Amino acid sequence: MKKLAIYVEKEGNTLIDASYELISKACELKAFAKSSKDMEIEVTAVLVSSAVDENDVKKAFLAGADNFILIKNDDFQVFNQMKYSSAFLSYFHENYHDYILFPATPTGRMIAPRVTTVLNTGLVADCTGLEFIIKDGLLKLASTRPTFGAELMATILSKQSPECATIRPKTFKADFRNTKIGTYKEFPCSIENNFDLILLDSTKDEAQKINFDTAKVIFSAGYGLYDGKDNIYIEKLYQITQKLNIGFALTRKLVDLGIKSSQYQIGQTGMTATPELYVAFGISGTIQHIAGMKNSKIIIAINNDENAEIFKYSDYKIVTDARAVIDDLFEKTGAYNQ
Ligand SMILES: Cc1cc2nc3c(=O)[nH]c(=O)nc-3n(C[C@H](O)[C@H](O)[C@H](O)COP(=O)(O)OP(=O)(O)OC[C@H]3O[C@@H](n4cnc5c(N)ncnc54)[C@H](O)[C@@H]3O)c2cc1C
Repeated sequence: MKKLAIYVEKEGNTLIDASYELISKACELKAFAKSSKDMEIEVTAVLVSSAVDENDVKKAFLAGADNFILIKNDDFQVFNQMKYSSAFLSYFHENYHDYILFPATPTGRMIAPRVTTVLNTGLVADCTGLEFIIKDGLLKLASTRPTFGAELMATILSKQSPECATIRPKTFKADFRNTKIGTYKEFPCSIENNFDLILLDSTKDEAQKINFDTAKVIFSAGYGLYDGKDNIYIEKLYQITQKLNIGFALTRKLVDLGIKSSQYQIGQTGMTATPELYVAFGISGTIQHIAGMKNSKIIIAINNDENAEIFKYSDYKIVTDARAVIDDLFEKTGAYNQ
């Protein structure tokens, strides 16, 4: 029997969706191992926290986890990358796992390299695909991720064990059709307070009120709106999204120009979004941007170049001046009244 651990994560009091997405994917891998090699894989969700809601544990079982482990300490109410990594490691040292999957969230990206460095193993970061393959008779984790500026996709096998990867949220779909209720266990963990990183204070960044995970509609700004001065069109588009209570995003080119912070950036090195409707205003559609929005249900692109690459990925193509559309929307939504 092989063991696969998923580092699951909470935001506030509940587990984030990416946790369930990874558990469900792990179940698919488990089914593959059974059918191709008659090998059993045990899937364990591992949470570092002071507490967990019992409904979240149930959901993790419905998503397919065989076990749910809470690595528990009252001190784990507030995220601290050093303590959380140490806690995970102390559990791992007593409970070896052959594979570990982490969500490629900001916190998952902090924990995974710390854990894998101590375990002296490799980490395939920021994956957008995950399969098991059989190589030399062994069941290997084949992790796929963009490379060479996202021009190519690389599928990487680890030489070391455990085999570890971080996976972008929204890469897989959570599926809550499992019927078997798994085992819940607590792993009490005392952590020595000998870290050189001390959390003095924390504040929640309210800038992004609509987060990309929940936004049903996102309006996204590209360099076609940039006027080099007061950026009136990007600001107008932002005001429209605030008025309509929908998500606002932009391309890295605008982030690099300092228009807004990188938390609004969609794409390979930004966030992934899968809204019902994604409207691209003056965006060319480079592969790095497309990587972050291509799974949106409906994509509308507004570009004044009829040959713009983004049209290849769009359900609706509008060849016109995006600035004029913004002026009109600004007027009609009453955003100017804010
Ligand atoms: C390693 C790496 C990682 C990257 N990661 C990301 C990432 O995560 N996200 C990301 O977005 N980018 C990323 N990039 C940058 C990416 O390669 C592009 O530079 C960027 O996405 C282009 O942004 P853009 O479409 O806004 O600008 P441009 O490519 O300059 O396109 C502007 C578009 O606006 C159109 N336009 C101009 N005027 C108007 C108008 N009046 N009305 C309508 N349309 C108009 C033009 O026809 C053009 O198609 C990355 C690059 C690298 C190398």
